[in-house]
Amino acid sequence: MPTERLYWKDDHAVNATAIIIAVRDNAVALDRTCFYAGGGGQSPDTGWLHHHGNRIPVTSVEASADGHIWHLLDVPAGSPGDTVTVEIDADCRNALARYHSALHVVNTIALRDYNAWITGAQIGTDYSRIDFKWEGFAPAIAAEMEQKVNAVLATRATLRSFWLEEAVFARRPHLLRTLDVRLPVHQGHSRVVTIDGFDEQACGGTHVAHLGEVGRFSVTRTENKGRSNKRLYVKLD
Ligand SMILES: [Zn+2]
Repeated sequence: MPTERLYWKDDHAVNATAIIIAVRDNAVALDRTCFYAGGGGQSPDTGWLHHHGNRIPVTSVEASADGHIWHLLDVPAGSPGDTVTVEIDADCRNALARYHSALHVVNTIALRDYNAWITGAQIGTDYSRIDFKWEGFAPAIAAEMEQKVNAVLATRATLRSFWLEEAVFARRPHLLRTLDVRLPVHQGHSRVVTIDGFDEQACGGTHVAHLGEVGRFSVTRTENKGRSNKRLYVKLD
């Protein structure tokens, strides 16, 4: 059985009780977890595994091809069948979720107003980097983007998620925001994340509950990465 990904039902759960289903070296696979396994430019969560009274650091998390989510531990611990509690580093997750949610606003405005497509992102806790295929980018556009993104953030709109059947999803190409054409499908369904009154797009990541949590957005630097490829460094305060 694949690991149940609790963050797809509840982006905001920071701990969960689970059972170890497999062990290898310094890692355990669990039947369920609230740890995000990484993807879409967002790093995996870190945190702790509580086992027999010990609080063991989880240094990273990775999904294997069979759908198990492996929690990489500081020291070996646990056996199959053991009950554990997992706890994510909530400050770190919250920072990543703020940047990740801002990214939805940025990619929507970039596509809507400038026909620019995201080609990659690296979401961090202190700043993030976003790559675009962006014809005709000029430095003045960075200031325009700041204004437009902050105006949307100021609406404090609510974020929600739902699942669509693959066939229905395939008929709604506007849900895709990257030039990577692989459809994000899980057990015949794709997850869609909406910002009330603003946008909906396919996404398997973790988000804030409403845009008021994001903070103030700024573009700190831009770089040319080829003729039509631009890299934006962004910061939230
Ligand atoms: Zn997302």
